[in-house]
Amino acid sequence: NESGARLAERARQVVPGGVNSGQRSVPGLTDLVVTGTDGARFRTADGREYTDFHSAFGPPLLGHNDPDVARATAEAGATLGHMGVGVTEGEVLLAEQLTELIPSIEKVLLTSTGSEATFHALRVSRAATGRRLVVKFQGCYHGWHDAVSLNVISAPEKVGGHDPISTGILPEVLEATLVLPFNDSEAVRRTFAEHGSDIAAVIVEPVPHNVGALLPYQEFLTTLREETTKAGSILIFDEVITGFRHDIGGWQKISGVTPDLTTLGKAIANGAPVGAIGGRADLMDLFSTRPGAPAFFAGTYNGHPSVVAAALATLRKLREEPVHEHVFRLGERVRTELTGLYERLGVPAVVTGYGSVFVSYFMPGEAPAPTRTC
Ligand code: PMP
Repeated sequence: NESGARLAERARQVVPGGVNSGQRSVPGLTDLVVTGTDGARFRTADGREYTDFHSAFGPPLLGHNDPDVARATAEAGATLGHMGVGVTEGEVLLAEQLTELIPSIEKVLLTSTGSEATFHALRVSRAATGRRLVVKFQGCYHGWHDAVSLNVISAPEKVGGHDPISTGILPEVLEATLVLPFNDSEAVRRTFAEHGSDIAAVIVEPVPHNVGALLPYQEFLTTLREETTKAGSILIFDEVITGFRHDIGGWQKISGVTPDLTTLGKAIANGAPVGAIGGRADLMDLFSTRPGAPAFFAGTYNGHPSVVAAALATLRKLREEPVHEHVFRLGERVRTELTGLYERLGVPAVVTGYGSVFVSYFMPGEAPAPTRTC
C-alpha cells in the first residue's frame, strides 16, 4: 500500500498542482490520497480515517457510497453501458420526475456538470431575448466558464465592478457581465432602470453557499422576479447546490419565487456527474440538435445510464426517507456546538450557514463580528 505522500508526489509529476482539482482547491488537503468512502467517513492511503465535513463539494447528501445508489449505478453500467444515441427509459423517468418535483420546470435537459447547466441557461437566455448583458451577484458561484467565472468572493470595494478570479476571460465577457451586491434590491432596480432593455438574464444562487450560505431577503428575490418580468429578461435560479439539498423542490419552493430557468446538479445524484437545466417550455424548446436551432444542444455523456440511475435512486431515497430533516438537525447541531466552543475558548470566529451547510469565519485579532447570515 503506497504511502499518501509518495502517491501525492507521483501526482505532482503528472497533474498540475498534484492530485485532483477538488482537493487542490482546499488548502492543506493536497496530500490526501483517498482509498475508500463510507457514509460520513473516508479513508486515506496512510491508513487514517476521517469524518468528512467537506462532503465532496456537497453532493453526497445520503452519505458516500450509498448502497442503493451504488447498486443502481452498477446495474445500469452492466446492462446499458452508454449508447449516446436513442433514449433510455431512465432518462425519460428522470426528466418526468424533475418536472413533477419542481413545478417551474416544464421541460428539462440533462448535462454532466453544473457548469454546463449554467452555461447553457445563459446561452439560451441570450438566444431567446437577443440581448447581451447578464447580471450576477457577488459571492455567487456558477461554475467555470467564461460567462460567469468571476467574482466568487465578495469584495465590498469592488461593488458594481469586476473582480475576475481567473485570467483568460475575454474582455467582452467581463464587459457583458454586471456584478451587483447580493441582497441589494436597490442596486437591482437601478441597474434595470439603466440597462433593462439590454439584460438577457439575471442569474442568482438563491442562497450563495460558496460564501457561507447567506440567506436571501425575501424582498430581494421578489424584486428580481418583478424587474426581470417587467424588462422581459430571464430569471435563472442556479440551484446546483440548493436543489434537493434543503428540500425536495429547491429554494424556489421555500421562497415561493418562480424562476424562468433552473439549473441543478450535485445532490440530485449523490455524487454521480449529472446536472440539469429546466424551465419554461417555450425557452427549453429553443434547445435542439437540429442544425440552425437557436440554441444547439448536445453532449456525449448527457443522459448516461449509470448517472441517470444514480439520480433516480437518489431522488427515490430523498422522497421516501427523512433525509432532509436528519441533515438539517445535524447542521444545526454543528453550528450550535461550534459557536459554543468558540465562545468558551475565546476564538474570534463566527459560524454561519443554513440547514446542513456551515462555514466558520476566523478573524484573527478582532472581536467576532455579527454573522452576515440574515
Ligand atoms: N453552480 C453552483 C451554485 C455551484 O455551487 C457549482 C459547483 N460548486 C456550480 C454551479 C458548478 O457545478 P459543477 O462543479 O458541477 O460544474
